[in-house]
Amino acid sequence: MQYFAGELDIAVIGAGHAGIEAALAAARLGCKTMIFTINLDAVANLPCNPAIGGTAKGQLVRELDALGGEMGRAADATSIQSRMLNRGKGPAVHSLRAQIDRRAYAERMKHALELQDHLLLKQAEIIDLVRDGAQWLLTTQMGAQYRCRAVILCTGTYLGGKIYVGEVCYNGGPDGMFAATRLSAALQKLQIPLRRFKTGTPARVLRSSVDLEQLEVQPGDEPPVPFSYDTVTPPANKAVCHIAWTNEQTRQVILDNIHRSPLYAGRIEGIGPRYCPSIEDKIMRFPDKQRHQLFIEPCGLHTEELYLQGMSSSLPEEVQVQMYRTIRGLEQVQIMRTAYAIEYDCVDPTALYATLEFIDLPGLYGAGQFNGSSGYEEAAVQGFVAGVNAAHKLLGRPPLVLSRADSYIGTLIDDLVTKGCNEPYRMMTSRSEYRLVLRQDNADQRLMATGRQLGLIHDDQWARFENRQALRKQELQRAQTTVFPPSEQLNAILTACGTTPVTTGIRLAELLRRPQVSYADLTPVDTGRPAIPPEILEQVQTAIRYEGYIRRQSAAIKEARRMEQKTLPADLDYTAISGLRLEAREKLQKIRPAHIGQASRISGVSPADISVLLIYLEKNR
Ligand SMILES: Cc1cc2nc3c(=O)[nH]c(=O)nc-3n(C[C@H](O)[C@H](O)[C@H](O)COP(=O)(O)OP(=O)(O)OC[C@H]3O[C@@H](n4cnc5c(N)ncnc54)[C@H](O)[C@@H]3O)c2cc1C
Repeated sequence: MQYFAGELDIAVIGAGHAGIEAALAAARLGCKTMIFTINLDAVANLPCNPAIGGTAKGQLVRELDALGGEMGRAADATSIQSRMLNRGKGPAVHSLRAQIDRRAYAERMKHALELQDHLLLKQAEIIDLVRDGAQWLLTTQMGAQYRCRAVILCTGTYLGGKIYVGEVCYNGGPDGMFAATRLSAALQKLQIPLRRFKTGTPARVLRSSVDLEQLEVQPGDEPPVPFSYDTVTPPANKAVCHIAWTNEQTRQVILDNIHRSPLYAGRIEGIGPRYCPSIEDKIMRFPDKQRHQLFIEPCGLHTEELYLQGMSSSLPEEVQVQMYRTIRGLEQVQIMRTAYAIEYDCVDPTALYATLEFIDLPGLYGAGQFNGSSGYEEAAVQGFVAGVNAAHKLLGRPPLVLSRADSYIGTLIDDLVTKGCNEPYRMMTSRSEYRLVLRQDNADQRLMATGRQLGLIHDDQWARFENRQALRKQELQRAQTTVFPPSEQLNAILTACGTTPVTTGIRLAELLRRPQVSYADLTPVDTGRPAIPPEILEQVQTAIRYEGYIRRQSAAIKEARRMEQKTLPADLDYTAISGLRLEAREKLQKIRPAHIGQASRISGVSPADISVLLIYLEKNR
């Protein structure tokens, strides 16, 4: 079948969050790309939380945006409530989260795919994938065949998908979609190491059946902050969320029926995400906890469906009704979509290079839930990296490998391909050793030059970035050189902030170094302050206040980069290096690290093995 003149370059299997970014990146780089989905009405579906971002995930979205991805723009365009999480803590963990109009988001993303040059979106289930010389041959369930030079697998929770609700179990994808039932066998024939993971989601309930008056309101931040550096008009808050709590009765319903949970009855073999447990998991794992919080979130502006965050379950439907109705405000609740667990096939990601290409299958890439991660944002960033790398390989350009020192994206991919994962991998700020440097507020400073180099940041965006850089530099200089004389007004401010008054002149930077004082407090005395966006002031304040910590982390980053420069040849035969322990030899041979830095993070590779590798590299330089 010929959609493009000449041959197809790249096929992306899956139009979820990974597939979308992969296909857009590849097509924007000029490759003739096709993206396949089982159902066109579920492109960019949000089968769980109707939200983008959150702790560490907000950082991922900002980083993706700085590189030229689509998720941040789409989230801003369809946001209905926005909050910066962890404001009460240090800037390293501030994370943006937006409640999204689920339908609008899916429509916005589908349209972006439809409008993209060099890209075709197609509803078809891929049932077979084989290598044919340097090409790949894909077959759909209709019998159509497509030849291409690279394939990106982004099959999400659909691959071998199986739904569980109590004793009920059937083949299926999320939200009533069909599962992809035949592709796994083709992947197994290619010797791809598949395994089973699982995840779950709570019920969606009818708004009019919930007594919202009885619940605490959770409003958005004012003014809302956008994700994307490309969003000029920030989104408005258009909806609120509510907070509710489980109680002793909820716990009792769960305990009385736990034997009917497919997980506890041993019917599910897949491994679930430890950090996103079901309510029955929480009750069983934390027996002393009196109550668990849940957030009641709107699924959109033109729907009455509400999402019960924190209450995912795979108990039988009638038990779910009983359980939800024990909660204050939910006594009359009507379920519109039943909570369920889903089990699916995914790959052991140690089979991949950090480019997300399979080590043993050149031209084949994996991204998203297929790689063992969980979450929309985790999927999207991998899709982008896989899409760029597939395109770059065909175009003869250098690979894109982000370092742990640059980004959460680099950290996530390094964790997956170096250490693998025994459960669905979710991003957390604690996974980064450089989190004070990898903040959501400075993603543009860390990554936009890379996005520009890739050719995915347009001129206007770049000009705005350069302007922000200039403003940051000027303000930093002004803070270091502006001296406030001691005055009653200044001392009154300092006393009100709970810090010592001054008797001699003091520099603005020194005042900002005091944890109790902020730019906002100093406004009355800081009369020479130019009109600068508040986020720039916040960044300057962070740079000044945490200067010592940042300097220390920057030194560690420098050392990490030194280790990354000690590259290991892709075809190095570790079995022939004497001095390596057997376990290290096997692991190095399997994972094929790109450099000494990555090798040192492989479990089972000791500092002594690293010394052997360093000596080997030195000898063979
Ligand atoms: C029930 C449930 C609960 C979840 N809970 C959470 C949670 O609590 N926290 C969290 O962070 N994340 C959760 N997720 C995960 C989140 O939905 C995924 O991480 C995210 O959607 C993964 O994106 P993806 O692009 O990898 O895959 P998906 O969004 O699943 O997209 C997969 C795409 O592949 C297509 N596809 C698959 N096979 C084929 C084929 N053979 N041929 C053609 N097309 C194919 C599908 O049509 C779809 O377009 C949950 C998901 C589900 C279903």
